[in-house]
Amino acid sequence: MKKVNINLQWEKEKIHTVMAEELDFPSYYGKNLDALYDALTDICEETVITVNGQSDYGTKLLAAINDAAAANKNIKVEISGENKMTIEQAKEKLYALQAKLAAFNHATAVLYYDGATTAPKGTGANRAQTMAVLSGEIYKLSTGKDTVELLEFLDENKAQLEEKEQRMVYLMLKGIRQMEKIPFDKYVELQQLISEADDVWHTAKDEDNFEMFRPYLEKMFEMYKNIAGWCAPEKDPYDYWLGEFEDGLDREKCEKFFGTLRSRIVPLLKKISEKPQLSDSCIKGSFAQDLQHSLSLYVMDVMGLDKNHCGISTTEHPFTTTLGSHHDVRITTKYHEDDYSNSLYSVIHEGGHALYELNVADEYAYTVLDGGVSMGIHESQSRFYENYIGRSREFITYLFPKLTELFPQLCGYTAEDVYKAVNSVQPGLIRIDADELTYCLHIMVRYELEKALFAGEIEVKDLPYHWNRLYREYLGVDVPSNKKGVLQDSHWSGGNIGYFPSYALGTAYGAQFLKKMKETIDVEKCITEGNLAPINSWNRENIWQHGQLYTPSQIIEKTVGSFEPEVFCDYLEAKFTELYNL
Ligand SMILES: [Zn+2]
Repeated sequence: MKKVNINLQWEKEKIHTVMAEELDFPSYYGKNLDALYDALTDICEETVITVNGQSDYGTKLLAAINDAAAANKNIKVEISGENKMTIEQAKEKLYALQAKLAAFNHATAVLYYDGATTAPKGTGANRAQTMAVLSGEIYKLSTGKDTVELLEFLDENKAQLEEKEQRMVYLMLKGIRQMEKIPFDKYVELQQLISEADDVWHTAKDEDNFEMFRPYLEKMFEMYKNIAGWCAPEKDPYDYWLGEFEDGLDREKCEKFFGTLRSRIVPLLKKISEKPQLSDSCIKGSFAQDLQHSLSLYVMDVMGLDKNHCGISTTEHPFTTTLGSHHDVRITTKYHEDDYSNSLYSVIHEGGHALYELNVADEYAYTVLDGGVSMGIHESQSRFYENYIGRSREFITYLFPKLTELFPQLCGYTAEDVYKAVNSVQPGLIRIDADELTYCLHIMVRYELEKALFAGEIEVKDLPYHWNRLYREYLGVDVPSNKKGVLQDSHWSGGNIGYFPSYALGTAYGAQFLKKMKETIDVEKCITEGNLAPINSWNRENIWQHGQLYTPSQIIEKTVGSFEPEVFCDYLEAKFTELYNL
């Protein structure tokens, strides 16, 4: 190994001479920056260049050395003396880097939102071109040499960082480390597979043709097994993917959770099926879209969503997105003219996601801590507002006068009729249309299938058979087609394998938050009065404000101690026993 120490305050001539002598540059070495770059990139032996001091020429020289080091792995550059980054400088760089990333993410999020809402149909390719450029910049910025050096430096000195900065560095480095473990060609292959699989899935669903989608799904599961092996060879591959979507989640936790649900929801459902069905006639009929839109705006106000920072649009599939920072959050809904409850609960659900995003502490804006921590905690909030508040008797009682004002055809009905209608249990085929009680059973089917596929107990080709078998077993329904069965969700085609359980987990977390909240807040009274402020304050204090500072497990530990699926089952049993007179 060769070593050379140079001081950038030396004369230009001296620096070049010392480098040429110490590093055995050829006799024709031209002693200028281009020649230096060429000579350094030709070096075949491990070489350490230690640099100290500062000067105008030295800055350019150092840039040439760094460029050569980026191109030639044999060269290591060490900065010493006053050139070495201080912790304060590094922290400044960390915040500047995150602000830059937030700006790029802002741009891509606006493009995506525009594409999903108001953009004319023929503009997709134009947007894709810009998105590709921006994604490339985001990739370079997140994984580039300067970024890695900065994060590693901060990580080595983490004792001198605040808790929030330690977490920022951890989260940013985690992504980089992960990328390093996946061979680059395999990463590109996966991105391509996801994009192709998603296209094929759309057609396969339209044409009800599972065989068309099967080869892609086979490749997808194989690829996911391989990635798990590269990233965490010590772990079971399904445990790895469950944990990727919800930090701390694995099969053991799922088994305990779904086992409890299975033993208590399936018998409850059986009892309900023996009772007369609750009428849902007061939510069906004809309800003009503009009136439904007025209802959306009213509900957003009741929820405490600040319309100066939260907008609403319509899309085919409702979603929530944050643009740039928590100061700009958008939700979407879809109006079904024949049933106002569909959009009503979409708005409340997405509104729950939006409240979480909007209420992250201001100090986290433009950093990686801005936004919800995980899918599970996010769903705990959306489903908290959708079900525990929105489908409560108190909320419907508060909402009823507004409903009759907007839809006079409801005048012959009572709030109790609406309460029963929005809570009627109807085991069905489609997850996103499921009622509060049967929703988790849809998730369990997907969990059982993913688990068995990873374990090699079943094969992708037999997926429709096992899907239909489990729907009969858990929900008591016969699946008439793959379109309404195994092909209904886009998660697998989009590479979201291991994602489903966090929906159910979030719902169960929400039940525990509700129970805890009731120890200090008269939740029923607040809802009856349409005053959600104390409820929002509890969520803000315990969950929202922290953004991504804590892991999902830490949030659970700090708020309710430990995860107890029984609390969710108790809630369902009490509610539906009363509703159906069981
Ligand atoms: Zn959601």
